[in-house]
Amino acid sequence: MERVVWRAEQKGSCEVMLTGLRLVSEAADLAARRHSGMARKGRGNEPYINHLAEVANLLAIATEGADAELVAAGWLHDTVEDTPTTQQELAEKFGPRVAALVVEVTDDMTLPKDQRRHRQIADAPHKSLGAKLIKIADKISNIRARILPRPTQGERDDLCDYVAFAEKVVAGCFGVNAMLDRTFEETVKAGKEHAVSAPFVSNLVGAPFNLPSADGAR
Ligand code: ZN
Repeated sequence: MERVVWRAEQKGSCEVMLTGLRLVSEAADLAARRHSGMARKGRGNEPYINHLAEVANLLAIATEGADAELVAAGWLHDTVEDTPTTQQELAEKFGPRVAALVVEVTDDMTLPKDQRRHRQIADAPHKSLGAKLIKIADKISNIRARILPRPTQGERDDLCDYVAFAEKVVAGCFGVNAMLDRTFEETVKAGKEHAVSAPFVSNLVGAPFNLPSADGAR
């Protein structure tokens, strides 16, 4: 009798695990297809999927794999903003919570960049706990992508500008997960240090610290 109960419990836990694995796997699959051919900013124009994998993985590590829906939302977090994917489609495929999390971290792309940034900062403290975690993971990944081995002045300026913006957004997201909070602070520190000590200076002996932008970026 005891054995039957044990089996039933094992089956139950297996089903939960498989459901979570399948949810995350299908989210990764859809994200890869929808963002196919897109490159991300910074770091050698790497495929956009690298950003999504990094965000999802940060969320999985931070929550010790306990929240499959959050990790699935991490994979999908830019689909509504950047691809022809709707909240309804996500809700049908992944359930209402995943869809709601993605929408919570989606900018209104009809607004100019300044307004979108302002909204992110103002709205951050009012987001759900899951959306706050996605925001932090997203900002960590975006800062890391801007830490380039030989940045131009424009790229250094972009790094400084983005770190300052990310700090304002994440100020409204702290206190949910200690690991993500710590990783964000370490990433900000690395970004700020890199912005003033990027190695390209040593390759240009005698060059002034503030070189003009080589590419006119921004
Ligand atoms: Zn993102």
